[in-house]
Amino acid sequence: MLEVKDLHVSVEGNEILKGLSLTVTAGEVHAIMGPNGAGKSTLSAVIAGEDGYEVTSGSITFEGRDVLEMEIEERAQAGLLLGFQYPVEIPGVKNVYLLKAALNAQRVARGEGEIPAPEFMKLVKEKINFMKMDSSFLQRAVNEGFSGGEKKRNEILQMLVLQPKLAMLDEIDSGLDIDAMKVVAKGVNSLRDPKRGILIVTHYQRLLDHVEPDVVHVLVDGRIVKSGDKDLALELESRGYDWLVEESAA
Ligand code: ADP
Ligand code: MG
Ligand code: MG
Repeated sequence: MLEVKDLHVSVEGNEILKGLSLTVTAGEVHAIMGPNGAGKSTLSAVIAGEDGYEVTSGSITFEGRDVLEMEIEERAQAGLLLGFQYPVEIPGVKNVYLLKAALNAQRVARGEGEIPAPEFMKLVKEKINFMKMDSSFLQRAVNEGFSGGEKKRNEILQMLVLQPKLAMLDEIDSGLDIDAMKVVAKGVNSLRDPKRGILIVTHYQRLLDHVEPDVVHVLVDGRIVKSGDKDLALELESRGYDWLVEESAA
């Protein structure tokens, strides 16, 4: 589904990703772990098409299409979605309108036409209940005054409504208390689907107690230095990252 090959990416002239390769197959949950500053967020941002990253070599393909040739909107419409693509507050724009606009953009791109308003409200209410969110949330401006936990829940809500083919979640577990994390994990688990790939970017193993990854990759200094199954995450939890940093420098 997603194939990243020998990707090199620079930010402001500094090389951040240094030959990263990664394959995600539909139906799988992949976790990208690694020390702070390794390039995890850079990877997900480059796949999603955010500005400010210069791809100097390598390739990214998604369902056989050259992702690097696609604009950010085209990528979203093709089903590549990074949670929290609107991490900033958007004063005056209600959450519910942003969700609806994003869903309709996708549907129109697929030639399906806009979703009827009652059908949309039914869908959103169902998902909001599932995420144990208050429905007043929909009427609030995007991210305005949201707590960290509310932003994270909102990110999963967006995924549940938009149903991307590849869902990428960056640090979805940071700053969550245990109850909020369980709700977020429940949301992520409900996204599991034979036709969907899920890429979870996380510094800590904590979320992976609740969302079992099929493949765990460790990103150190711009490269994937080790991949394994869920046991690798447990090993990292007990041993930290230093041994891999040393191995990768040797
Ligand atoms: P991680 O998510 O693994 O903690 P990041 O991808 O956020 O790491 O960052 C990797 C490296 O790239 C860091 O050294 C960071 O300082 C640098 N970096 C990321 N974004 C920018 C930017 N917009 N401008 C300058 N440096 C950046
Ligand atoms: Mg990073
Ligand atoms: Mg990061």
